Amino acid sequence: KFDKDFGQHILKNPGISDAIVDKAFLKPTDVVVEVGPGTGNITVRALEKAKKVIAIELDPRMGAEVTKRVQGTPLAKKLEVILGDVIKMPEMPPCDALISNTPYQISSPLIFKMLAMPNPPRVAVLMFQREFAKRLVARPGDALYSRLSVNVNFWATCKHIMKVGKQNFKPPPKVESDVVRIEPLVGSARPNIAFEEFDGLLRIAFNRKNKTLYAGFNQKEVLNMCERNYKVYCTLNNIPIDESLASAADLAAAGATNDAMDVEMDDDNEDNDNEENNDDEAMEEDEDEDMPVFFKEQNDANAKDAKTPSKNPKSKVALIVKAKLNKVLTSTGLADKRARQCDQNDFLKLLLAFHEEGIHFS
Ligand code: SAM
Repeated sequence: KFDKDFGQHILKNPGISDAIVDKAFLKPTDVVVEVGPGTGNITVRALEKAKKVIAIELDPRMGAEVTKRVQGTPLAKKLEVILGDVIKMPEMPPCDALISNTPYQISSPLIFKMLAMPNPPRVAVLMFQREFAKRLVARPGDALYSRLSVNVNFWATCKHIMKVGKQNFKPPPKVESDVVRIEPLVGSARPNIAFEEFDGLLRIAFNRKNKTLYAGFNQKEVLNMCERNYKVYCTLNNIPIDESLASAADLAAAGATNDAMDVEMDDDNEDNDNEENNDDEAMEEDEDEDMPVFFKEQNDANAKDAKTPSKNPKSKVALIVKAKLNKVLTSTGLADKRARQCDQNDFLKLLLAFHEEGIHFS
């Protein structure tokens, strides 16, 4: 009996198992990781072509099935079964190729785990639910464009391989599936920046993907995080924080004032892009988010300042960090853009400009 909570939809069409393995173009020297071997339909084909298959399986009954399936054959010595949750493993075993009829609950974390590997596999051939596969290949402006799309196309190339109807599985899932081939950039082709930094910036940008980047980066939590990271960065690099930078004139020029810090740009989380429920977001246009901002905000703050001195003065470092953030957003010309319109070069440009200012996201 199959366990739907484990995403157990077993492939019953051998042609599809063949195609998944074929599309990985395995070499006899390859080490393959298969996530969720189930009863071993894909596993046996990979074992025939590769040097070794490391099969990671959450369900011990399935682990026993796949072991039994090759017992007493020459393939047995090439198979290693690891029982456990691949997402909870501190690191995925190093490998040349990753293959999986992916249990749908771990689609997103599995991709992120692979892309974050310092030495990712040469190729991954993965089956996903169709909606998820569409998000992988979404482009700026597409409704399904998300943090996932940017990461995949920044750290890898991704190609749709084939459609797979639900009748090819037992039991059939509710939706259709797609197979994709992802080729992570490796060696000198891999961007020379930390995965966590790029992804950290995208998390902020796509948290409110329909709002301006200005609004996204001026949320209280983001400012607080950047301030904490900036202090760590300065300490680790022996950089004295020049508090004179926080003089009123400098900050005004950069678009931050004490009272501006208190302006909560938007506090709702309704368009949170949490990877699973962002697909049908209504596009919203909030006029307030369109004000460029620094001058308006500064004027408002000045007007307020004249009447009431700030009751809750922010630290000078907080002011410096806010000024740095807004300087970068302005100088890159991206303050008024929304994440859904930005391509990977925009995000890279933004990240490099933030790094120039000592602003980090991880
Ligand atoms: N590969 C088989 C096939 O194509 O016929 C089975 C694929 S089935 C869609 C997904 C498999 O992944 C199941 O065997 C399930 O027990 C396993 N699984 C689910 N969650 C997992 C996890 N977090 N780590 C490892 N395996 C998992």
